[in-house]
Amino acid sequence: MGKGISGKPVVGVDLGGTKILAGVVAADGQILGMAKRATKPEGGPEVVVARIVKTVRKAVEAAKLDMSDIAAVASGAPGPLDPDQGIIWNAPNLAGWENFPLADRLSERLEMPVCIENDVNLGTLGEYALGAGRGARDVVGIFVGTGIGGGLILDGVLRQGFRKAAAEIGHMIVLADGPACGCGNRGCVEAVASRTAIERDILAGIDAGRESLIPAIMQRDSRDRLTSGALAEAFRGNDPLVTEVIGKAQFYLGLLVASVVNFVDPEVVIFGGGVTEALGEDFLAPIRRVAYQCFINKRGAEQVKIVLAQLGDNAVLLGAAVLARRRLGKDGA
Ligand SMILES: [Zn+2]
Repeated sequence: MGKGISGKPVVGVDLGGTKILAGVVAADGQILGMAKRATKPEGGPEVVVARIVKTVRKAVEAAKLDMSDIAAVASGAPGPLDPDQGIIWNAPNLAGWENFPLADRLSERLEMPVCIENDVNLGTLGEYALGAGRGARDVVGIFVGTGIGGGLILDGVLRQGFRKAAAEIGHMIVLADGPACGCGNRGCVEAVASRTAIERDILAGIDAGRESLIPAIMQRDSRDRLTSGALAEAFRGNDPLVTEVIGKAQFYLGLLVASVVNFVDPEVVIFGGGVTEALGEDFLAPIRRVAYQCFINKRGAEQVKIVLAQLGDNAVLLGAAVLARRRLGKDGA
C-alpha cells in the first residue's frame, strides 16, 4: 500500500436486497472478522441504515477490535447511485429509496468517513486487487446471476463513466429484436443469458412438453424459483433441455466477451456471480471458445485470460475495503 494511507483496518459492506454482509479488512486484504444480517428493505432506508450500522459493529466485535480501531467504512449498494456524492438515486431492490444520502447517514451514525459505490463495480475492484485479476492493469468483470452486471478497471482505476453509468455490460444488445429486457430494451445479454432468462427458457421448454430433471429437483427442494444450485444439478446430470438452454446463454456470453475484448483489449475477463459459481469451469469453457473465435486480433488470443472469480460472496466487501483505503489515501481523511 502507498504512502500516506492509514495502516488501520477498514470495514467493507455489501448491501444487497436480501442481506447485509460486513467484513473488517486489514491493510493486506485479510478479513479479520465478519457479520451478516437480513436487509429488511420493507422498513425503508432509515431501518436499513440502522441494520448496516449494527452489522458493521458486529463485524468489528467479531474481529476483536474497537470502533476506534477502524479508519473508514465503504459500502457496495445496488445502483444507480452517485459515488462522489454518496447518494443512492434509486434502487429497484430497495423500495422507497429515492435520492437517499446513504454515505452521509452512515457517516453520522458511525462517526467516521464512509463512501459508497455500485456493488458490481466493487466486486470487480475486489477481484482486481485481491482475486483473479491480481497483477493485471486492465480488467473486465462480468457477474452472471439474477441479472448480469459488469465492472471496468483501466490502468488500475475503476471507471465510473461520465454519468456514473459505465460498464452496464448486462445491457449490451447481443440479439437485435430479442426477448424484452427489464430495462425496456430488447435482446440485452441479460435478457438471453441471466438466470432469469435461463429459467424462462427452461420453463417454456417444460411447458412445451420437453422432459427435464428440473421439475423434480424444484419439487424436492420446495422451491418455486429456479436456483443456481438446481440449475447446476440438472446441468451436471446432462439434462438435455438444461444443456441446450445454458448452451445458448454461453453462446451469447461468448459474443459479449468478444465485443468487450475487441473494444477494451483487457488482460483479464473475470466471470463471477451465482450462476457462474454454481456451474464453474464447465460454464466458462464454451464461453471462452466462442469469444476467442470472434476476437478481431487473434494473435496471442489465449493470452487474454477468461477466468472464474476467486472471492465468491466476499468480492464486494473486499472491493469496498480497497475503495475505502484508496479514498482515505486521496482525501487524507
Ligand atoms: Zn437491458
